Amino acid sequence: METHGRTPSRRTLLRSGAYLGAAAAGLTAATTPARADARRVRAAVAYPPTHWIPASTSNYRVSSRPTSYPIDFVVIHVTQETFPDAMKIFQDPAKQVSAHYMVASADGYIGQFVREKDVAWHAGNRDYNNRSIGIEHEGWVDKPEYFTDALYESSATLTAAICDRYGVPKTRTHIIGHNEVPNATHTDPGKYWDWDRYMALVKAA
Ligand SMILES: [Zn+2]
Repeated sequence: METHGRTPSRRTLLRSGAYLGAAAAGLTAATTPARADARRVRAAVAYPPTHWIPASTSNYRVSSRPTSYPIDFVVIHVTQETFPDAMKIFQDPAKQVSAHYMVASADGYIGQFVREKDVAWHAGNRDYNNRSIGIEHEGWVDKPEYFTDALYESSATLTAAICDRYGVPKTRTHIIGHNEVPNATHTDPGKYWDWDRYMALVKAA
């Protein structure tokens, strides 16, 4: 999609995206005690720039998290599609699938498709959907060249910010692959996803 490229307008898009992303999270400081707690120990990680690209309203469930359900997990996915094709899937009401975020391979660009307060349909498990934020990564499980420095760094900053906002421990018990969701039928992010590297980046963010 055109907003991907390193065009002169991209910086502007990212700036407006950052504003929309914060608004899209649908949370205020008053409703996020975990964030205040994290700040007492160490300043919370700031969200990286995100671009609001809403999914079809048929592809997620409106909720009021973390009041309705606690957010306990970040689920890591690989799309098995290009970013634009996955975006079209999230926008197609017939698909009944979505993720909160998707990170582009080439430059770490982050689209947000579902507000964090709402339940995206990404994990194939109702309980885990209720209690997680889903992050898709553009690429294929058998094509490690899609897992670029930019993708890892951008995604790790996003995951760190999510963990700080909701008080999710930055451990592999709480930051999990789709394949680790109970009864998962998917294998993503697959054997080429570098968990050691990713977790080090999350903790360093
Ligand atoms: Zn997945």
